Amino acid sequence: MLVVMDAHATPEQIERVCAEIREMGYTPNPMPGPTRTAIGVTGNEGAIVETSRIVLLPGVREVIRVTAPYKLVSREFREADTRIQIDDLIIGGSEIVVMAGPCTIESREQLLAAAQAVKAAGATVIRGGAYKPRTSPYSFQGMGEEGLRLLAEAREITGLPVVTEVMDTETLPLVMEYADIIQIGARNMQNFALLKKVGKTRRPVLLKRGFTATIKDLLLAAEYIVAEGNGAVILCERGIRTFDDHSRFTLDLSAVPVLKSLTHLPIIVDPSHATGHWERVLPMARAAIAAGADGLIVEVHPNPVVAVCDGQQSLLPDRFAEMMDHITRIAQAIGRSVAGRPASTGVLQEPALKSQ
Ligand code: PEP
Ligand code: MN
Repeated sequence: MLVVMDAHATPEQIERVCAEIREMGYTPNPMPGPTRTAIGVTGNEGAIVETSRIVLLPGVREVIRVTAPYKLVSREFREADTRIQIDDLIIGGSEIVVMAGPCTIESREQLLAAAQAVKAAGATVIRGGAYKPRTSPYSFQGMGEEGLRLLAEAREITGLPVVTEVMDTETLPLVMEYADIIQIGARNMQNFALLKKVGKTRRPVLLKRGFTATIKDLLLAAEYIVAEGNGAVILCERGIRTFDDHSRFTLDLSAVPVLKSLTHLPIIVDPSHATGHWERVLPMARAAIAAGADGLIVEVHPNPVVAVCDGQQSLLPDRFAEMMDHITRIAQAIGRSVAGRPASTGVLQEPALKSQ
């Protein structure tokens, strides 16, 4: 349920409504807007029947039933897009934000080479995993805190914020010391204890869609974070499992416009994990921007052939720069721009897709 207050409702009237909601056993979530305050009601499972207790209070304009099972993340609750600010970067605004870097941090040389190359091409967030969720327990599990320290050095050198994955609640405090954006990976999308813990922080969260999760599951996972008070959630479509095996996962591009209609949270796309192959990254990156994504997260490695993890899907820096040119042009065509990139002119080269 959403209570919409009159444009001139007083703070006392708003508090009176909140008190009544608490009295009914639910939680009020006041959301001041540019013209009026709305108060979201959470804590109920089914429909709230006693709405007349609220409708009749002074300063109340209307009471709207929220039909979706997720509340705070829904468009019904908040119409305006959520914009997440990190220093002077805004995620979820008209500018498209590109996060890029290696799958896993392997060494100082590797990370810094990748970080400097992606910055030069216009990326505005550096990615790199220090704790890696690997399918096999025998695969490289990440550099841990040493990797986090290298990420801090990459931030220092490039001046760009960093995104890195947290895998469990025990390492969250350590990751918080380094990460500007906390990534929750596909395999942890429904780790509810972890979602609640990051929800208690005020750090932006990149929440990746589980590969067997529905859009409703993803939004309910985001709701866990927002319900704890952290509204800075960025959703990420990174491919789902289907019957087809032509690609590592199947990029569910229609998730972008669907999520845009269901939620006010920003949505980015990961064409690297979705396709599993560098050749498919460029076309899917272009398509994601055309579909309305607010950004991309892309794997880039200075020498993918020797990459410890996900080399097949990692772009060489030159290929990444090419991708940035292409998405800049697509952004312009739909009235947007790419953060960190000047407007693009000239003729785009269709890449020769035989080798990197
Ligand atoms: C990653 O981005 O490093 C990653 C492991 O992706 P996902 O959780 O989507 O598999
Ligand atoms: Mn990877």
